[in-house]
Amino acid sequence: MTKIELGCCGAYCRTCREYIGGKCKGCKTGYATGERDIRKSKCTMKVCCYGERKLETCADCNDYLKCEKIKGFHGKSGYKYGKYREAIEYIRENGYGSFFKKSGEWKGAYGKLD
Ligand code: SF4
Ligand code: SF4
Repeated sequence: MTKIELGCCGAYCRTCREYIGGKCKGCKTGYATGERDIRKSKCTMKVCCYGERKLETCADCNDYLKCEKIKGFHGKSGYKYGKYREAIEYIRENGYGSFFKKSGEWKGAYGKLD
């Protein structure tokens, strides 16, 4: 399981080129060790999900269906946002184990789930 490399919003850091190439630290790595400070994050979802609620992703949140933060992010124009939503909803329905099996060979932060 690589939940630490899965973004709170559903972007999959482990398979993302920016992360692999070292241009991005990923969503959640470095906070547990003190290398990064969650209070300095500009991402309100991450501050809420990982910082305050201590959840791995928004898929684990009881307030997911009524959350305007995640709804707004997933509803942004751009293909990837819909794919991040699909990842979170897939996890809510099928669990992390199935998600990691399906996403293992992705070449970016999102991919096919069926
Ligand atoms: S948008 Fe926020 S929640 Fe999504 S991967 Fe980036 S930092 Fe994490
Ligand atoms: S769904 Fe909304 S309330 Fe729940 S953890 Fe994510 S950002 Fe926070």
